[in-house]
Amino acid sequence: MTQYPHLLAPLDLGFTTLKNRVLMGSMHTGLEETKDWNRVAAFYGARARGGVGLMVTGGMAPNREGGVFPGAAGLFSNDDILNHRLMTDRVHAADGKIAMQILHAGRYAYSPDCVSASPVKSPISPFAPKELDEAGIEKQISDIVTAAERAQEAGYDGVEIMGSEGYFLNQFLVTHVNKREDSWGGSYENRMRLPIEVVRRVRAAVGQEFILIYRLSMIDLIPNGSTWDEVLQLARAVEAAGATIINTGIGWHEARIPTIATSVPRRAFSWVTQKLMGEVGIPVITSNRINTPQTAEDVLAEGCADMVSMARPFLADPDFVAKAASGRAAHIVPCIACNQACLDHTFSGKLSSCLVNPRACHETELVLERVKRPKTVAVVGAGPAGLAAALAAEEKGHQVTLFERSHEIGGQLNLAKQVPGKEEFHGLLAYYETAIAAAKITLRLNQAASVETLRAFDEVIIATGVAARDPGIVGQEQAHVVNYYDVLAGHVDVGPRVAIIGAGGIGFDVAEFLVTPQTAKNDLDHWLAEWGVGDPSEMRGGLRPSGPQPEAPARQVTLLQRKTQKLGKGLGKTTGWIHRAALQMKNVTMTGGVNYERIDRSGLHVSFGTARENPTVIEADTIVLCAGQEPERGLADALIAVGQVPHVIGGADVAAELDAKRAIDQGVRLAARL
Ligand code: NAP
Ligand code: SF4
Repeated sequence: MTQYPHLLAPLDLGFTTLKNRVLMGSMHTGLEETKDWNRVAAFYGARARGGVGLMVTGGMAPNREGGVFPGAAGLFSNDDILNHRLMTDRVHAADGKIAMQILHAGRYAYSPDCVSASPVKSPISPFAPKELDEAGIEKQISDIVTAAERAQEAGYDGVEIMGSEGYFLNQFLVTHVNKREDSWGGSYENRMRLPIEVVRRVRAAVGQEFILIYRLSMIDLIPNGSTWDEVLQLARAVEAAGATIINTGIGWHEARIPTIATSVPRRAFSWVTQKLMGEVGIPVITSNRINTPQTAEDVLAEGCADMVSMARPFLADPDFVAKAASGRAAHIVPCIACNQACLDHTFSGKLSSCLVNPRACHETELVLERVKRPKTVAVVGAGPAGLAAALAAEEKGHQVTLFERSHEIGGQLNLAKQVPGKEEFHGLLAYYETAIAAAKITLRLNQAASVETLRAFDEVIIATGVAARDPGIVGQEQAHVVNYYDVLAGHVDVGPRVAIIGAGGIGFDVAEFLVTPQTAKNDLDHWLAEWGVGDPSEMRGGLRPSGPQPEAPARQVTLLQRKTQKLGKGLGKTTGWIHRAALQMKNVTMTGGVNYERIDRSGLHVSFGTARENPTVIEADTIVLCAGQEPERGLADALIAVGQVPHVIGGADVAAELDAKRAIDQGVRLAARL
């Protein structure tokens, strides 16, 4: 008997059956744009082998004006069809099923040629769209239909029509963008004509035995978004027009409410999909912040949906379903919803990968092949870099000994897990514990490796991490000046007024930790109220008229940096705004361009500018140092001094801008070369 009976139950669609209730949701990885189709096939082939019921590709443009950016991939030629065929064949050979997402970006297209219902610029785009005339609308419909026909020719099992997240079809639905007075605007019947016409004509073109998923925005999270009655009306019309499945979309891209970041509670929006259950006759998929088989199982068992969409978890682990089905759920590499190597890359024009699995999207190039002659490998330091290197080296067949001077593995991950909103790090640490215990790795906790101990190994990997930088501020030796490590580890008492020196990732984390009341409820209702999310049946678009209602901050915090630029500029591209907004909601004062003059009992004395003007005292009971880090290289240098050649990775190599992404990537890549 499986632990996940609902998740692993087949789904009969009449003309075809999906082997389980797991959809790998659409992700733009950038792979298609590399034009290396073997690489694309390797990516999807690996996930098909991992047992997922149905996959959806990244969004394919139906035409040039609808591409998310100039040069966005689509099925424009016979060559494109042949290339996609290479991938669909690989998926089918692995007994998988795959649908192609057709994504028309409308006014979100990063191009002066973008088009929409009305010439209303989006707040997240520099380009105002051109208003489509009647012939222009007909062209868009016909191009979407052609894309679906080509997808069928390329061997896909279906298409997903992207109607949510504020893209083209969604733009016609709401008066926020659709100001038209013709038969495509005005009443809701008119505004929903475009999506319905698209579904009807795609169905007519592809025949009955082809999966047609419609991704429907169930809670827009923007002013003047759809009402729940409109959502219901659209869903029923989409079904009548020929859709096979309805998938859930949550929030427009321009919404100022986080919807998938790690601080969003797990399954935060499954209640929204649940409202549609029983209202339509076709299966309904739910999505957003579902990243474990148990969460997915609970969602289905509670009747929130017929199927569950997970996207990023399949970057983290292509074998998610196979591991769940074989009783090895604890071995699933968990997606921590950080966005650091997936969406942050996408929005920087880089190929996606995954912080916890650097092999994602690099399947053909980063390969861990078994070695013919295993070596003895010592890894010193069980933080992210060391753990990744040890596991990858062991996977290749090397005999690995992992030294860690503290009593536990994880290094700085143990600090990250203390930060409110970063609870997913607990799951990552639990995975590493399981993986290390299951691997043939000798783990030596409470043991600081010495030059002498390491002499016996063929290869030595130094992953000793970082030490806090000393900012050298006059008066910092006083008892009320503490280090971030001691704060997050709970070693020190922190007073009601706090100044934080340094506004990097750790300064922001410490601020979040200190302003969050210890009694704060980490539950969904609390989170929804904090961000102003309500029931779309009661309030248009699911936005509470009262706006966000944050809990009062636990402390009065001032966050400081010397640079004059906006604080948090170096944080994640897709998540930095969330960290800033969260601290602003807690009245954190953010001050840049300071000089640190001295610390005394009254607090922190600063001045501004090169002329050291405007001397100011920031009154504080506690001052926390978060001034960055320096490499911990003592052991590496000692080895080099006696003629050894260690491999130095992670923070011990370069501390600047170190994060777990670089550490893990470096660890795996080094092991691949050993
Ligand atoms: P960091 O990002 O390098 O920030 C260091 C901060 O200290 C900066 O604000 C810097 O600003 C200040 N600083 C540097 N030298 C100083 C000095 N001598 N005296 C006073 N202030 C000084 O380092 P971090 O915050 O320790 O974070 C370490 C790494 O972990 C970073 O790469 C970070 O991205 C990563 N991390 C990421 C996240 C995340 O959410 N993605 C969370 C935590 C940590 P000024 O020089 O302008 O004063
Ligand atoms: Fe998940 Fe982070 Fe990996 Fe993206 S980079 S898939 S959010 S763990």
